[in-house]
Amino acid sequence: MMLRAALAAAALAAGWPAAASAAGDLKSELKALAALDARVQSAGWRLVRSNAPFCGTVAPGIGLQLFDAAGFDDPPQVREALGVEGDIAVQAVAAEGPAARAGLTAHAALRSVAGQDVAALPHVEPGDYARLAGLHDRVDAALAEAGSVTFAVADGAPLSVSGEPACVTRFEMLSKGARAAADGKRVVIGRKLVEGLPDELLAAALAHELAHNLLGHRARLDASGRSWGKVKQTEREADRLMPWLLANAGYDPRAAVRFFEAWGPKHDLGILSTPDHDRWKTRARKVAAEIELVRAAQSRRGGAADWKRDFRPQG
Ligand SMILES: [Zn+2]
Repeated sequence: MMLRAALAAAALAAGWPAAASAAGDLKSELKALAALDARVQSAGWRLVRSNAPFCGTVAPGIGLQLFDAAGFDDPPQVREALGVEGDIAVQAVAAEGPAARAGLTAHAALRSVAGQDVAALPHVEPGDYARLAGLHDRVDAALAEAGSVTFAVADGAPLSVSGEPACVTRFEMLSKGARAAADGKRVVIGRKLVEGLPDELLAAALAHELAHNLLGHRARLDASGRSWGKVKQTEREADRLMPWLLANAGYDPRAAVRFFEAWGPKHDLGILSTPDHDRWKTRARKVAAEIELVRAAQSRRGGAADWKRDFRPQG
């Protein structure tokens, strides 16, 4: 699926349940959210890092998701549950990514991010994640300019983290829902979908959405109009790019087939489906056929699934 309207970063972790009032419950809930976010960041980072040689646009990345307590319904309660004084912290780091290797860990409180004193940030209301998005922009800008970015961790010395080349897409988990979408720059995925998928199938779901961004589908549909036929073509392309992206990231490309086998029977709307997506069995079959092309390309190119050269987008 592709997003038709601009996504608001505000959706990140919004809709906090008021019932989670006990500090212990809140703490374990925040921990659970961070663990799910870490799975998304880890799989996303593997995909964008390993496919960098083939992406049209590449920028330094570090595999980091930040956290803003002020976006929650009850920020003091959130700060207390995490044992932090300020609002800004690390939410998740990608396994084996630059941020993790530099020593950043989930819920580490931050005093400054890319030179920004976080205590001096403007106030935001619950549900407003604009300043969180702004901090991510600062991180990206510092990385683009200097190749590295500095964080002041509340209880330690400043940490400088060097970026590594990655395809340009941010990954974000929404606090609810079971859908995934791409808007050209970001991939968002609902918490329920993350919870329901083992790592390899989560990577497949993210690879599909990332493929929309890498193939410039949103811009293409903006220019051409969104007829069912045009949308269906972008969906088919995104499906077929999945095994290429997975193979480079060290996942079994057949995870793309297994994703449709696992997800399809539960989510395919059958006769109620709109004609802009094929039925899941068709999608699984087409992806399986594409895997043969991925294997052939890998054997020609010393193991690299060079989709920039070998992937045929049309059809
Ligand atoms: Zn799609």
